[in-house]
Amino acid sequence: MLISVVVPCMNEEASIPVLVDRLAQVVAPYGARAEIVLVDDGSTDGTWAAIERAQTTCSCLRGLKLSANRGHQIALTAGLEAAQGERIFMLDADLQDPPELLSDMMSMMDQGYDVVYGRRRERQGETLFKRATAWAFYRTLNAMADVDIPRDTGDFRLVNRKTLDAVLLMPERARFVRGMFAWAGFRQIGIEYTRAPRALGETKYPLRKMIRFATDAMTAFSTKPLKFATRMSFASLGFSALMMIYVIYSLVIYQTAPGWASVVLAISLFSGVQLLTLGILGEYIGRLYIEAKNRPLYFVSEDTRSATLLPLRKVV
Ligand code: UDP
Ligand code: MG
Repeated sequence: MLISVVVPCMNEEASIPVLVDRLAQVVAPYGARAEIVLVDDGSTDGTWAAIERAQTTCSCLRGLKLSANRGHQIALTAGLEAAQGERIFMLDADLQDPPELLSDMMSMMDQGYDVVYGRRRERQGETLFKRATAWAFYRTLNAMADVDIPRDTGDFRLVNRKTLDAVLLMPERARFVRGMFAWAGFRQIGIEYTRAPRALGETKYPLRKMIRFATDAMTAFSTKPLKFATRMSFASLGFSALMMIYVIYSLVIYQTAPGWASVVLAISLFSGVQLLTLGILGEYIGRLYIEAKNRPLYFVSEDTRSATLLPLRKVV
């Protein structure tokens, strides 16, 4: 097997036929040496039926159905664990990432690179809010993270077996796949492309999921927020020292320290600082707890390749 194409799909019923068509054309030159792995991430629409239907027309297609929705990054991981190719190509189901870029990525990999990732030159058809938050996210992450995570880069990439095996050795539950590839090292290079608008359906990343994704990335790749909490407590100590001087001064000079406004100010400021610090701690402790439970990342409930698969067996 030369190439595996891995696509996580959640409620992508409408995109599947178009996606499979485009992918089939792209992998046609590799004939039987290509496979397409579609992972149904606990969809509630007809995604799985669409995958099964597509499978009857495209023999190189394999469908995996997760037992419940586990999120984009875990669905992607499930596909990566199932992939058998020497080179693994991953993209979104909504065709925002042009599959046709595969041949360019292949030739760059032929020059000796281990990872060829797509870098978004421009994002079409995305809201100003999405573009602004994404812009801020990649820059903040880079300022905070201990590894250099390429900016404006999604999971759209071609990786070789060596790099994938390295990444799959990382057992964490809070997965930020593009960061894990960056952390793994090896020889990496970007290739610029224009991100198309979503072909069909709507985004599966509402604000709630975006925030979770961003905090997962930040906490997984940086401990700077914890240091920030320490610094903030020093700043508030400094501030309270100044206040103390002021209070003593006004007691000595004016024999009174009028209070209501400054008391309210101090209480709200310091309780704010405390709660924020607790919140930052909580984000890390919650993740420690989840990692410590060491649960399997996902269960596969159906696999079009093997009818004898026991339900709930993890693909290895
Ligand atoms: N996705 C998934 N599980 C989820 C959310 C999303 O498998 O819980 C998939 C989705 O089907 C798509 C990819 O992740 O293939 C990226 O999602 P989407 O295109 O909605 O994100 P956006 O491009 O809007 O950031
Ligand atoms: Mg998309």
